[in-house]
Amino acid sequence: MATLEIKDLHVSVVADEAEKEILSGVNLTIKAGETHAIMGPNGSGKSTLSYAVAGHPKYTVTSGEVLLDGENVLDMSVDERARAGLFLAMQYPVEVPGVSMSNFLRTAATAVRGEAPKLRTWVKEVKEAMSSLDIDPAFAERSVNEGFSGGEKKRHEILQLGLLQPKIAILDETDSGLDVDALRVVSEGVNSYRASGEVGVMLITHYTRILKYIKPDFVHVFAGGRIVESGGPELADQLENEGYVRFTGKREEAV
Ligand code: ADP
Ligand code: MG
Ligand code: MG
Repeated sequence: MATLEIKDLHVSVVADEAEKEILSGVNLTIKAGETHAIMGPNGSGKSTLSYAVAGHPKYTVTSGEVLLDGENVLDMSVDERARAGLFLAMQYPVEVPGVSMSNFLRTAATAVRGEAPKLRTWVKEVKEAMSSLDIDPAFAERSVNEGFSGGEKKRHEILQLGLLQPKIAILDETDSGLDVDALRVVSEGVNSYRASGEVGVMLITHYTRILKYIKPDFVHVFAGGRIVESGGPELADQLENEGYVRFTGKREEAV
């Protein structure tokens, strides 16, 4: 069973020719079967955490460790991380004009599985996964994310999740830009995927809304580049009532 361990992680970016520390000592362990919600105000470094774990070149790990089943993730290329079982659904998915969804997914599956899925079974697999997410079959022939609505992009991410079968899934603001119906469909996709009990989920969110659909086992409050409090689902209820003011010392928009 997979375990992701993040130990005293410090991460910087270079902005305006100066190095700026964004993560200041993150400690977090996620095991298969667990869902951890990371909640925090805008600008607290939540996306930076997901990018750093996924290996985005802009984010430099200055100290600390990230281990997947004891293996040093920070030594791996982005492809190797995906093959090792890490999955990142990005807050701002990129558009890839001229590459159809079905080709993109097959390439991604080939990279993760180490061999190309057989075409006939692959087509069937994609069709089934799409229908469970209420995705129109015509979607498979469209260019990746080009002209997709917010809801379509999120469904596409969860489609990837189901097809790539990662051990650890990092979902960054999966709820942003979704209406209630789309949120329900996307959440059901995540829930059916995690029902196996074999995946660990890091669910990053600013708002508590998605946690009504995807129930976390643990909630962590993220502020100023680190986890400042951890608890169970009741912590999310508390944040919904009180906002992040206790952690930031300033008034914030409602959670
Ligand atoms: P969150 O996801 O919690 O809103 P982010 O991780 O996106 O927070 O950002 C945390 C802080 O780091 C912000 O002050 C943001 O401006 C800064 N930051 C993030 N990425 C970059 C980058 N590539 N270049 C410069 N600053 C960045
Ligand atoms: Mg942000
Ligand atoms: Mg973010």
